[in-house]
Amino acid sequence: MATLGTIALSQIKPFSAFANSLDGEVLFTLDALPYEFKALEPHIDALTMEIHHDRHHKGYVDNLNKLCAKEGIQEKSLEVILSKVGSYSVGVKNNAGGHYNHTLFWKMMKANGGGLPTGAANDAINANFGTFEQFKTKFIETAKGRFGSGWAWLVANDGKLNIGSTANQENPLMDVSELKGTPILCLDVWEHAYYLKYQNKRADYIDAWFNTINWDTVNAQLKLAK
Ligand code: MN
Repeated sequence: MATLGTIALSQIKPFSAFANSLDGEVLFTLDALPYEFKALEPHIDALTMEIHHDRHHKGYVDNLNKLCAKEGIQEKSLEVILSKVGSYSVGVKNNAGGHYNHTLFWKMMKANGGGLPTGAANDAINANFGTFEQFKTKFIETAKGRFGSGWAWLVANDGKLNIGSTANQENPLMDVSELKGTPILCLDVWEHAYYLKYQNKRADYIDAWFNTINWDTVNAQLKLAK
């Protein structure tokens, strides 16, 4: 106690970091972003990225670990948890989904991204939607049309690509999701993903986000789906 006054605030771990070690084994961890917070500017600002990753995504990971300890879940594969998430609590659904969705979302973006799809992604998008512009129009409509918080997705199912959206932190790998398939591309349309820079203008955020897409990740997900 006597030393507390001499510790800099930055040296004090947030409560959630302690909570994991108190409650039990840490199953899931938060990876660092694969780029700097400012890497996606001017499309997505550094402060939004920092808060989104270090607070929102960290919160999902911390809560998921606490809930796994509390509910006796020892399953180490996030994908397996998602596949039977309907048999767990709503908290597990929200936080397992939150962890999975954000982990994938960070990889869907990169500095100097965007442009036209490359390789197999280009072929698959043209085959399923006609042209990239037609795909983009439909994806934007879907992302704008998700009422409240959620995600827009491009998924692969039975060799076909579909566009859809999910509410809150649900995703196409969940047994409880109407939209099913392997995630190929995802976009977070929760207000926390854009409100600092775009306020209520979700459409502007979606347009700008297209300039960050990492088509290498899209191609990697397409391979996974096969
Ligand atoms: Mn988010």
